Amino acid sequence: MVSLAEVVNSLPETKKLYLDDSYKREAESRVLRWIRETGRKGYIVVSETIMHPKSGAQPSDHGILETVGTTFMVSKVMEYGGVIVHYGEVCGSDFKEGMDVRMRLDWERRYKIMRTHTAGHILDYAIVAVCGRSFQSQSAMHDVGYGFQEYLGEYSGDLRERIEEVANVVVASNKPVFAEYVNVYELNKKVFGAPNLGRLPRLDVYRIVVIEGINAIPCSGTHVKSTSEVGRINIELIERVGNGFRISYKVLEG
Ligand SMILES: [Zn+2]
Repeated sequence: MVSLAEVVNSLPETKKLYLDDSYKREAESRVLRWIRETGRKGYIVVSETIMHPKSGAQPSDHGILETVGTTFMVSKVMEYGGVIVHYGEVCGSDFKEGMDVRMRLDWERRYKIMRTHTAGHILDYAIVAVCGRSFQSQSAMHDVGYGFQEYLGEYSGDLRERIEEVANVVVASNKPVFAEYVNVYELNKKVFGAPNLGRLPRLDVYRIVVIEGINAIPCSGTHVKSTSEVGRINIELIERVGNGFRISYKVLEG
């Protein structure tokens, strides 16, 4: 078993193309490391990638890396020390370090994750709007078409329908969604309605995802560019968990 520390050893940080363009489905890159683990399975690090790793609340992208005579099916993407590692199965001849590759994203999967993730930020807003107070988030998952978010604090009454209604008004209002980079001094001025401020790491620069007029939340995930792309948000369940509550939801097609 190869450790991620061995895979990324002495490599530079990967250029993360998905941070600047969530809609980039294809790119050219260069193999910096190729480690075959067992059989046809192995690890590839490339100089720049369009594939988002599993991190925080967002699951890993899938896709392929290919060059003449060789295809690598990516089933898992991980980040270690700023380096993105693609894990998967090779079909064809071996890769070589320094080789150029073309990468393609499993776009259908990614786009659903983008819609679910933006829906999560909209729900952060809707909960504050309906309950009249903010809650600190504890954990979340923004998966392929469904997700959940957990908050600390007391939730009482049945506000499911009202939260869902407010969220879908935001969807229908077609608000722009975009990312910005701010320093720690600007962070407190720019960020409003963010449930994760209490558990942010200390950084020189923060990436924030803004839904215009709605909220701005520190986030390194991939998002749609307008709330109308999310589609209808259905809240499946709001339930008590531990010291707080969990809201489970789906984003519907069409
Ligand atoms: Zn986020």
